[in-house]
Amino acid sequence: MLFAHDTECGLVATAALVNTTGPDREGLPDVTALDEFFTAYGWTGRHEHTEAELREVRALRPRLRRIWHADTDEVVAVVNGLLRESHALPQLVRHDDEPYHLHAVPRDAPLATRMAVEAAMALADLVRMDELSRLRLCDHPDCENVLVDLSKNRSRRFCDAGCGNRAAVSAYRARKAAAHS
Ligand SMILES: [Zn+2]
Ligand SMILES: [Zn+2]
Repeated sequence: MLFAHDTECGLVATAALVNTTGPDREGLPDVTALDEFFTAYGWTGRHEHTEAELREVRALRPRLRRIWHADTDEVVAVVNGLLRESHALPQLVRHDDEPYHLHAVPRDAPLATRMAVEAAMALADLVRMDELSRLRLCDHPDCENVLVDLSKNRSRRFCDAGCGNRAAVSAYRARKAAAHS
């Protein structure tokens, strides 16, 4: 493991949240989609199932996406801004079956606030370890997704949306076409 467990979970969940939107694509079209996202990424605590909550979560995404395109000082500004606005106060907590980890806002804080703070805390770790190069864009030419490379040898190139397979298939077709020409 490269980073603390909660840092890695936070980074993965943040990238997944950013990737719920892209050009002409809305992966959180309604409250049900947010419910599914909530469950898929192991969120617990307050969850209202309302349009207002959905709007807040959607509104967070462009702010988080910017981090993937920012230099260190800009990332720091975003992270500090998110922590300040959320009145973050780091506390070690234990709940469900998880070992001690950091929460910086209470579990009854709004979901979008907790998502913002979890992202900020995880990113703060990356900044401190000088590992922001782990935040990358998917290599597939038709894909705008972001990714977090948590591999030991920094070998990850594609996002979770199947781009690795798509790239392998195109390479195979290209080789086959070349062989027949
Ligand atoms: Zn927790
Ligand atoms: Zn991709």
